[in-house]
Amino acid sequence: MNLTESQDAVSMRDIDYQWPRDESFTIKLEQLVISRGKRVLLLGDSGSGKSTLLSLMTGIISPVSGTVQILGQNINDLKSAGRDRFRAEHFGIVFQMFNLLPYGSVMDNVILPLSFAPGRKSKASSQGGEREEARRLLNGLGLDKEVHTKKSTDLSIGQQQRVAVARALIGSPEIIVADEPTSALDTNRRHKFIDLLFSQVETSGATLIMVSHDESLGESFDQILRVQDLLGTRNRGEK
Ligand code: ADP
Ligand code: MG
Repeated sequence: MNLTESQDAVSMRDIDYQWPRDESFTIKLEQLVISRGKRVLLLGDSGSGKSTLLSLMTGIISPVSGTVQILGQNINDLKSAGRDRFRAEHFGIVFQMFNLLPYGSVMDNVILPLSFAPGRKSKASSQGGEREEARRLLNGLGLDKEVHTKKSTDLSIGQQQRVAVARALIGSPEIIVADEPTSALDTNRRHKFIDLLFSQVETSGATLIMVSHDESLGESFDQILRVQDLLGTRNRGEK
């Protein structure tokens, strides 16, 4: 099966995972399937394994056993470098702390992933050029051109967050993963941010997987998954 034929963005089965040197936390996941184009909210308390699950899904870590298929590709069949390339090409990732390059401008930060993803690079180029595509995304997220040349360290948290989203969206990767991107925002800004994110994801047709511990965000999503229901986890303190 090639990538374009699979109807599932994500299909994870019979996953076992344990962090090295930490026996108190284990993940057992029977099945997690996310169809293409869906907007999914993954809810769970702090420490319940949300970020670990995203790392398994994006191939940053590999399960002890079980399969992780992304767009029909079993990513654990790939060698480490191939998995990195696959991740760069097919995932746009918004990290919890944004991970912007401190010395780069906003523009540099947004076009950075294209250096590691030739497919995304050519998509961005065909949409009027890389920088033009970056400008379109930044403007769509409410960042005017005066901001595009600023250093990322000179931005507010809300602005950094939008830059991180533009960087995830550029070149239209099939899956956008966002790890608690709203945690630094107050409730009002949180809902505005979600609206912006949704309108951009809709334009690109991507699947959105967002992680949060905020139940109030649920109504906007197509599907809500609860980590506690998905994982047979044993948290710290429990035996
Ligand atoms: P959440 O994102 O839901 O807050 P995490 O996936 O970050 O939860 O953490 C789940 C568990 O995995 C915690 O017990 C945490 O200590 C452990 N853990 C997370 N990252 C690491 C790591 N890099 N090395 C070892 N243990 C980790
Ligand atoms: Mg986390």
